[in-house]
Amino acid sequence: MVRRDELRKGEQQTTPPKAQDAGLEFIGIISSPWTDRMDCPRQGKDFGPVCKIEVYKNWERALYQIEIYERIEVLYWLHKSRRDILLQSPRDDGQLRGTFSLRSPVRPNPIGTSIVKLLSVEENVLFVRGLDCLDQTPLIDLKPDRTLFTPLAPETSGDLL
Ligand code: SAM
Repeated sequence: MVRRDELRKGEQQTTPPKAQDAGLEFIGIISSPWTDRMDCPRQGKDFGPVCKIEVYKNWERALYQIEIYERIEVLYWLHKSRRDILLQSPRDDGQLRGTFSLRSPVRPNPIGTSIVKLLSVEENVLFVRGLDCLDQTPLIDLKPDRTLFTPLAPETSGDLL
């Protein structure tokens, strides 16, 4: 993983996407204890520190009934990431992996996801454990943990979709 925007031995880059092409609207902002990528955990943990997710006021109504879920999925924009790396050396040992075979923050569209424990909701602010992102990381979306939903059965037994 590229953690300081450096290029490591064997890593390959390409032209990064233009910043405006996704057309996403950030719907809030995350407060966490980490201000340096080097201090952030690689994945959030259930017993990690409490983080605050502030949903912007114009989206507050969309939080209605979210507190019925113990766990929610948080999607965020890893805004400090490089977006131009094809091959990465996660351990900086010359061994390479393709970007899409990693959960590295360095990717063409740097979307991070975490399943977090929802502790409480106060108006437009959620308190959670289990995040792994920098303080002031922009929020893209919130959804109930997908494992709480039963997948729909295929319409016919021969249906391969
Ligand atoms: N849990 C998410 C996932 O699997 O999609 C993110 C995993 S990624 C390996 C987590 C790492 O991203 C952190 O250790 C930190 O180095 C980096 N990171 C966290 N917040 C970031 C941000 N806002 N911009 C760029 N990098 C960030």
